[in-house]
Amino acid sequence: MNIEPTFREQLIDAGILIPLGVDGVWGRNGVFEAICAGLEHAISEAGLNDAPEVMRFPPAMPQDYFEKSGYMKNFPHFAGTIHSFDGDERGQHKLLGQMARGEPWMEQQQPAGLVLTPAACYSVYPTLARRGPLANVGALVDVYCWCFRHEPSLEPTRFQFFRMREFVRVGTVAQVMAFREDWVARGKVFATSLGIPFEVDIANDPFFGRGGKLMADSQREQALKFELLVPINEGAGPTACMSFNYHMTHFGETWDMRTEDGEVAHTACIGFGIERLALAMLRHHGFDLDLWPVDVRAFMGFGTKVSKSVGSVDAVEA
Ligand code: ATP
Ligand code: ZN
Repeated sequence: MNIEPTFREQLIDAGILIPLGVDGVWGRNGVFEAICAGLEHAISEAGLNDAPEVMRFPPAMPQDYFEKSGYMKNFPHFAGTIHSFDGDERGQHKLLGQMARGEPWMEQQQPAGLVLTPAACYSVYPTLARRGPLANVGALVDVYCWCFRHEPSLEPTRFQFFRMREFVRVGTVAQVMAFREDWVARGKVFATSLGIPFEVDIANDPFFGRGGKLMADSQREQALKFELLVPINEGAGPTACMSFNYHMTHFGETWDMRTEDGEVAHTACIGFGIERLALAMLRHHGFDLDLWPVDVRAFMGFGTKVSKSVGSVDAVEA
């Protein structure tokens, strides 16, 4: 019997995702990166008229930012901390011996004062807060960052390292609610232009522990989170490719962000999961970018023959 390869197997066979032997940690080839670049382009275009302030951060944040963010209260299971060697030469010798014998060798690794960024918007709030009260128009930031979440999975849509592009709005409740409502509508237009099937639904974050269920229920009850879901994995529910989050005054209080008239600021963010959107497009338009619908290609800013520019194993072998 000939069993149809899964989407995951197809991606590996085509060299689009390069396995590294750890679940959810992948290399990517030129085809995948061309799609990511196209998405970046399309997202920039979609946000252009709002003239957001652009911020780019490395994939880690200072430990004190991270601690204050409260992430460990809600998602300790996802966090990744950075440690580096803090010993002397004797220590190094010991470590190399332990490594060679296949023994644990991490005891001399000390916290580097950095934590892997779990969501792109986390570096934005303390940055804005340091500037003092907001202008009366509030703030709008375009942020893009590699993120880490320790959630190893066999589903190709669940990465441990992935890129998140966000538009982050900070201001009065009216400004922030209008922004989110507007973006739910714009998100649907965006997904339509990508030519992928989708639905938008109320959602919750995967809060940790027994208290987590209550947090998730309350988040749903208050309609704080919506997701744009796309069918990608066979035999599984649709995957969240974009999210539309309203945090009320959570980050405003955490970072003491104030509006012009001294009220605690409200915040919202619109997150684009770049890898997931790329996989959604591969799923629905196929692996040959030159064969994608003309209007989708134009929306992504692709030239006439994308395949020429991305390189392929065949090209190298020929
Ligand atoms: P999920 O419910 O699938 O775990 P989430 O609700 O935790 O996702 P958010 O915290 O809202 O996701 O993150 C913003 C966006 O980042 C999501 O809409 C999604 O597109 C993307 N994303 C989140 N987690 C992952 C992951 N593990 N791999 C790839 N993309 C992800
Ligand atoms: Zn966010």
